[in-house]
Amino acid sequence: MKFLSEYRDAGTVKKYLSELERVVTREWVLMEVRGGQTHSLVKNGLLSLLPAGIRMVHGPGCPVCVTPLALIDKAVYLAEREGVILCSFGDMLRVPGSEKSLLEAKAGGADVRILYSPLEAVKLAKQHPDRQVVFFAVGFETTAPANALSVLHAQREGLTNYALLTSHVLVPPAMEAILGDAQNIVQGFLGAGHVCTIMGLDEYYPIVERYRTPIVVTGFEPVDMVHGILMLVKQLESGSYKLENQYSRVVNETGNPAARQVMERVFRVADREWRGIGVIPQSGYELREELSGFDANRKFALPETPVETASECIAGEVLRGAKKPNECPQFGKRCTPAKPLGAPMVSSEGACAAYYHFEVAI
Ligand code: SF4
Repeated sequence: MKFLSEYRDAGTVKKYLSELERVVTREWVLMEVRGGQTHSLVKNGLLSLLPAGIRMVHGPGCPVCVTPLALIDKAVYLAEREGVILCSFGDMLRVPGSEKSLLEAKAGGADVRILYSPLEAVKLAKQHPDRQVVFFAVGFETTAPANALSVLHAQREGLTNYALLTSHVLVPPAMEAILGDAQNIVQGFLGAGHVCTIMGLDEYYPIVERYRTPIVVTGFEPVDMVHGILMLVKQLESGSYKLENQYSRVVNETGNPAARQVMERVFRVADREWRGIGVIPQSGYELREELSGFDANRKFALPETPVETASECIAGEVLRGAKKPNECPQFGKRCTPAKPLGAPMVSSEGACAAYYHFEVAI
């Protein structure tokens, strides 16, 4: 296979689905880790094509969705501060904070800018030496290298007016938190392919062994999804558990060591709160002590104020795979993409938004 269209080929999807029908003998609960995979399943109508025995639950792999409310409040606080330019990817702007979103802060006059790369934020810092430029660094292991690189660039340029507000989360600790939960129902994982392009596969072998749970690292196209599910189900039906790589056209064993080196120079692993889930030990990145001048939290002495998510939003259960988005009583009623109550209805990777936009039957 060489071309993208081959990964969207209906005939290949059908072939894998027929094989799946032949292989499945009982019910299996599988989780796709990443929001992009959830969207692929929903957008391509794959959920309704899977055999009745396959139950997909959706994982916490949407960085926007798991960014704590308190951190969004900090971003809003910074954006409204005199002399600050707050930069962010577009997805974060509409996520509601406890009082307002970044978009509402922008509408009220705050200097909030949507960028496509943190390196653009470094450029802004260079162009505006009289202003403080903060980049809201949200994401998994995939976006961490570019954010880390922006700090090294700023350091090399001698900039003292650039900082990151980090909300970096790591996939393997979240998978362990799900598998280690007494209420866990997940029997196999579709691993996040693009995270592995950076991190490689090493981190996943111990998880497979410790929890005796198969993981298939999978891509995002319909063929990838159905093929990955078939590989998982074959393992489960045969009673085996191992790590397999369905996404070998992109992912190799070692990932991208150069990117990891940059990340290691800038970040250290730390405990991290996941919105709706709570604190997961060693599940995020913080800036290293020696780079604290680039850490917005320390530079601006941002207050740590825990804030509760709206009680009617069950995003935590959705993100742990315990409930489907359309099992939320507010889904499509008080909570819509135009008026979201929680982040999973906002983000382009959020499970609630996927169910809403692609009209998954209630
Ligand atoms: S539908 Fe809305 S209120 Fe319900 S879990 Fe999703 S984001 Fe929260």
